[in-house]
Amino acid sequence: MHYNSCMGSSFENLKKAIIDNSISKKWEDAVLEWTIIDTEEDEFNESKCICGKENIKYLHRIQNIHNKNELFPIGSTCIKKFDRADLNELINIREKLFKLYHAVDNREFLELSPDLFNRKLIKYLYDEGAFDSDNKMYPAYENYIFFLKMFNKRNEKTVGEDKKVKAILLNNIRPFIQKRLRNKIIQK
Ligand SMILES: [Zn+2]
Repeated sequence: MHYNSCMGSSFENLKKAIIDNSISKKWEDAVLEWTIIDTEEDEFNESKCICGKENIKYLHRIQNIHNKNELFPIGSTCIKKFDRADLNELINIREKLFKLYHAVDNREFLELSPDLFNRKLIKYLYDEGAFDSDNKMYPAYENYIFFLKMFNKRNEKTVGEDKKVKAILLNNIRPFIQKRLRNKIIQK
């Protein structure tokens, strides 16, 4: 057998880790067995992926849905090699959540901008209960639809709309994000 110079490459390492922990021994099928169960952020990019690549920022924990094996940490780039649209979407939402967390953490005024939000993230926030409110006048679904409408609105918001958007950002989104991600950031 010829020595294969790719043997030690990070993609080969990734394939081996996945296949060793999957039921299927074929890469194309093995990647279908996994889901993302948790994500942490390394603010200093000092973590090392299971493939051996260093300096990853987002540390995902993945689990095999059949045998429950877990792998951690795996970077976003490696999960994208699974070539699964559903996982790519999850990665995107999770990365956006961390960006939102930092925006909440650093700034006094939060904005409903495309920098921070997109429709899928807003839907995710709704599904996870971020729009729930103690105020019976504003049920979660109405808050969500209002928020989405305001996100899509091209014209300038009225004073009343602006006020309500800010109220949702401060009373719903901010506490939700803080609670959800506070313990997911690796700091020095
Ligand atoms: Zn990797």
